[in-house]
Amino acid sequence: MTQWTEEVDPVNGDFRVQLRVEKVLFEQHTPHQHILLIENRTYGRVLLFDGVAQVAENDEFIYHEMLTHVPVLAHGAVRRVLVVGGGDGGAIEELFKHPGVEQVDLVEIDEAVVEMSKAHFRSVCGEAFEDPRLRLTIGDGVEYVSGCADRYDLILVDSKDPTGETNVLYSEPFYRNCRKCLSPGGVLVTQNALPFFDRDWLGKPLARLRKIFADIGCYQVAVPSFYGGFMAFGWASDDPALRQVPEATLAERYAAAAVDTKYYTPAIHRAAFALPPYVSGMLV
Ligand code: SAM
Repeated sequence: MTQWTEEVDPVNGDFRVQLRVEKVLFEQHTPHQHILLIENRTYGRVLLFDGVAQVAENDEFIYHEMLTHVPVLAHGAVRRVLVVGGGDGGAIEELFKHPGVEQVDLVEIDEAVVEMSKAHFRSVCGEAFEDPRLRLTIGDGVEYVSGCADRYDLILVDSKDPTGETNVLYSEPFYRNCRKCLSPGGVLVTQNALPFFDRDWLGKPLARLRKIFADIGCYQVAVPSFYGGFMAFGWASDDPALRQVPEATLAERYAAAAVDTKYYTPAIHRAAFALPPYVSGMLV
């Protein structure tokens, strides 16, 4: 009998999404979540946490390229990055494509996610966990930024959707501590799920960021395995110009970095910040 996953709409429970399970590749109940890695003919290997699809092998490049190359190329001189979450290794694999990136601190609360990725998700993490520029901390990102003496040009909050345990990664105290860990001119980017489903996942966190940073906004991308339309990345910095870098400048930086991408281009970078009124209306 064919096995199916069953993801229930995490907001209202009004719909279900199912993935046919060709094979279960990994499963573990950790103190933080139920981790399941399955094989699906359309999406390839799919990582689910507590029954919700998080990373799909065949489309993760879209999410991870837009999470990383947009702020790195907008900033133009990123040397030190902090990634909170992201234990699948997809974000750090993209960051290490940039020769200018000298150090990436990855703070992942669940060591089992890292071990699973190294063992079964090399198509996502590549050799990133072996890169000498990586400093891996298994711990809570909230605690890490509250006592962090390091300073970063870029902080990426590569978290699950803001429900349950991960809500702390959308809190004002966490954001205030992130700002303390940013170097002057630094950028904070957050994962804010799908605005169509829940304005609180975008509107409320960005209202908190607006109290802390001079410039906030968001940019969007459609990831096929994130059903429900475009997802949003929150953006916060103290320099509005970072959100409006001309395409020609981005193109120069993209060419100089010689980064191999399958989704990101300077034109798509600029277009991602064009928001439909129903989303831009959430940012006021
Ligand atoms: N990259 C995925 C995607 O494409 O949507 C989402 C990121 S990943 C699945 C989310 C990670 O955040 C998980 O590995 C989870 O263990 C981690 N995490 C959750 N809460 C955390 C916290 N407070 N500190 C550090 N990591 C946390």
